[in-house]
Amino acid sequence: MATFKAPKGTYDLIPPVSVKYLAVREAISAPLRNSGYGYIETPGFEDVGLFARGVGESTDIVSKEMYAFETKGGDQLALRPEGTASVLRAALEASLHKQGNLPVKLWYSGSYYRYERPQKGRYRHFSQVGAEAIGAEDPALDAELIILADQAYRSLGLSDFRILLNSLGDKECRPVYREALQSFLRGLDLDEETVRRAEINPLRVLDDKRADVQKQLVGAPVLRDYLCDACKAYHEEVRALITAAGVAFEDDEKLVRGLDYYTRTTFEFVHDGLGSQSAVGGGGRYDGLSEMIGGPALPSVGWALGVDRTVLALEAEGVELDIPASTSVFAVALGEEARRVLFAKVTELRKAGVAADFSFGGKGLKGAMKDANRSGARFAVVAGERDLAEGLVQLKDMESGEQSAVALAELVDTVKARLA
Ligand code: ATP
Ligand code: MG
Repeated sequence: MATFKAPKGTYDLIPPVSVKYLAVREAISAPLRNSGYGYIETPGFEDVGLFARGVGESTDIVSKEMYAFETKGGDQLALRPEGTASVLRAALEASLHKQGNLPVKLWYSGSYYRYERPQKGRYRHFSQVGAEAIGAEDPALDAELIILADQAYRSLGLSDFRILLNSLGDKECRPVYREALQSFLRGLDLDEETVRRAEINPLRVLDDKRADVQKQLVGAPVLRDYLCDACKAYHEEVRALITAAGVAFEDDEKLVRGLDYYTRTTFEFVHDGLGSQSAVGGGGRYDGLSEMIGGPALPSVGWALGVDRTVLALEAEGVELDIPASTSVFAVALGEEARRVLFAKVTELRKAGVAADFSFGGKGLKGAMKDANRSGARFAVVAGERDLAEGLVQLKDMESGEQSAVALAELVDTVKARLA
């Protein structure tokens, strides 16, 4: 029995399920790669201050969920809880924004870490694919990202999801609203922690999931009534562009999201088959983040989609991804000489671009054919000493069961032709 187990709140991706995760990452990133987004990869940990300032000290992510630690050298680091701050930090560090090519469009895929209470769809190690468009204030960019996420989910065969959309205003109008909301919240009967949150980040109180809090929030001032003309016009343009693209969304004036850096456009993708962990992705505009982490003003927009929850959403909808078998040809050799010859053929097939595998471990015919079956290969190549003496191998079509002798020298060409 194994002594060690995966740590609490984590799980391993193992075959055959792990191919689904690869397929989901591929499907989410495909529309981005097709739309001018370049791949970026950043370290799994960063200076803790990057997140404390960028994500916001009063957010749950920073105050409760972050894996922060001191290194032996005395550096204060944190495992990354999200991608945006890191990507922006990397773009600034490499001066990507100074090359006259704004917006800088980037996509990423990786692991993120949050010390959360583990439950279905909520883990301490999870994976996201994300996109950031840095350095342009253009409603078409916000619309592009929402449309690409919609396209990604649809390409996977998902349909039971909804897009929630809101505007959080900008540095002109949001403070006025914040003030109004705060004085409303001060009149409520809230617990100590929520009172404190109302002082630091009152918009997040709107996001409180508890029913007794939500009941008191009826009649709270809504941000929409406070948006300045510029924010209103911007938001209307985003809505019009998404609508014109045929992407359905719902206006959700209570949508605020858990990160402090969002301004104007904010959105979330929720899936109705997931119970309480319903958010499969989210994002928005973060015009102030660059300055918060010491950079120039760089209005930007982005999203991150959760891979784990997307896989759960596929299961909830009963979607079976069409994932082709990874092996096309499985070689079964009977006897020492046959092993040497077929092993060489497998190498040749692989070099010719045919996915091939070999019966290892010196199994008998029965066991080896079982492996051939399990591999999902279209063809099994079987050879013993007698076949080889005649320069032949047996090629078995695993779908039809038909078997025929093929000249060893023509095996690669024959297989390639029959697979095409
Ligand atoms: P939630 O409200 O469920 O806590 P969030 O607002 O914290 O989500 P984001 O920070 O916007 O989530 O991250 C984007 C996506 O990453 C989420 O929509 C979700 O799919 C995924 N995600 C976030 N936290 C976790 C987690 N602990 N486990 C699995 N997936 C997660
Ligand atoms: Mg969260």
